[in-house]
Amino acid sequence: MVKAVVGANWGDEGKGKITDMLSKEADIIVRFQGGANAGHTIVNDYGKFALHTLPSGVFYDHTTSIIGNGVALNIPVLFNEIKEIVDRDVPMPKILVSDRAQLVMPYHILFDEYEEERLAGKSFGSTKSGIAPFYSDKYAKIGFQVNELFDEEALKEKLERVVVQKNVMLEHLYHKPALNVDELFETMMEYRDMVAPYVCDVSAFLYQAIKEDKNILLEGQLGSLKDPDHGIYPMVTSSSTLAAYGAIGAGIPPYEIKKIVTVVKAYSSAVGAGAFVSEIFGEEADELRRRGGDGGEYGATTGRPRRMGWFDCVASKYGCRIQGTTDVAFTVLDVLGYLDEIPVCVGYEVDGEVTTDFPTTGKLENAKPVLKILPGWKSDIRGITKYEELPENCRKYIEFIEEQIGFPITMISNGPGRDEIIFR
Ligand code: GDP
Repeated sequence: MVKAVVGANWGDEGKGKITDMLSKEADIIVRFQGGANAGHTIVNDYGKFALHTLPSGVFYDHTTSIIGNGVALNIPVLFNEIKEIVDRDVPMPKILVSDRAQLVMPYHILFDEYEEERLAGKSFGSTKSGIAPFYSDKYAKIGFQVNELFDEEALKEKLERVVVQKNVMLEHLYHKPALNVDELFETMMEYRDMVAPYVCDVSAFLYQAIKEDKNILLEGQLGSLKDPDHGIYPMVTSSSTLAAYGAIGAGIPPYEIKKIVTVVKAYSSAVGAGAFVSEIFGEEADELRRRGGDGGEYGATTGRPRRMGWFDCVASKYGCRIQGTTDVAFTVLDVLGYLDEIPVCVGYEVDGEVTTDFPTTGKLENAKPVLKILPGWKSDIRGITKYEELPENCRKYIEFIEEQIGFPITMISNGPGRDEIIFR
């Protein structure tokens, strides 16, 4: 059976933890989109890890971890990550990389930096991992697939062609040094040697695995609201964050995805620019940020402080719907135990009217939150393993949100650890 684990919000919902937990019963875990611009934080028996490219299943020796064709593959980052986990005594994971995955080129990272510099105050808040230039090139059909590394002559010819265009931009738009084809070619040969042992026809592999009834997890990055089509365009990421894209980014039939576990966080956080209706500021935000996640709400890749907000029913209802949610995993609920009262955003006021439907970006910029105040439970819920044992106000918070978003909350995460989960 194929299950997807995806986010309903702006990312950082705790997908890594949920994937790591569900990986216990999985045979194969596939990353199907995104790149090293976001990260998952995972806490398990080996310690605490920030993964950017490797699927969250790499800590189990019974799983195969796959980088699908939809991923923006940064080969040096992948290899450093493998090295980092192996150096910390995790057994060498079984990894396969799609022969159709495309490469983040060294110049994608440069262009990302140069463009942010050029846009200055009007920038998108890119993590400068080269993701937007990468996907632009992919769809402009001047990207490089992994398999192209193995045909030296064709590769050199294509590099020469692509570099002509890049150098015009570098010289005239960014006023930066030109690229050198020979150097790039040498780098590509190093990449080829690094990736060679893992290259695989992933869709054929998964076709066989599905036939053999293997358990497959598709692991998404970021969340619904960062999807380029359905999110807060243009303050979005460059590849689809939706479970539906899992079929494309892994190379499997869409009807094989039977379960869509959407991870929803018990409060809101976001990184980068863009409207964030339930955002809070000042001391209130600082405290939630300090207490949030596991050791504070700071970017796993960049260390940037995340923007904080109350739970947003409007955004989460939409985020779950657009994912096609079958199950909600409700995370980091333990963090809210310090609050006397917990505000929840239950509607948006847009141009004098209240709505619970998530609007398009222009209207979103003018939306004001309609808050409802729920009582807190003022206790530490970590260590609780049964739903009935949660404090009454905590259950009421969960049930209120479940009703507002309209999708069943079947898992509640009350701590960062693998086993800190309550099934309902
Ligand atoms: P992802 O990108 O969706 O995987 O999200 P992050 O890696 O940003 O995960 C959010 C953070 O919250 C990580 O530091 C996790 O270890 C932590 N975390 C996940 N679930 C829980 C939870 O239920 N409670 C607490 N306190 N922390 C959690």
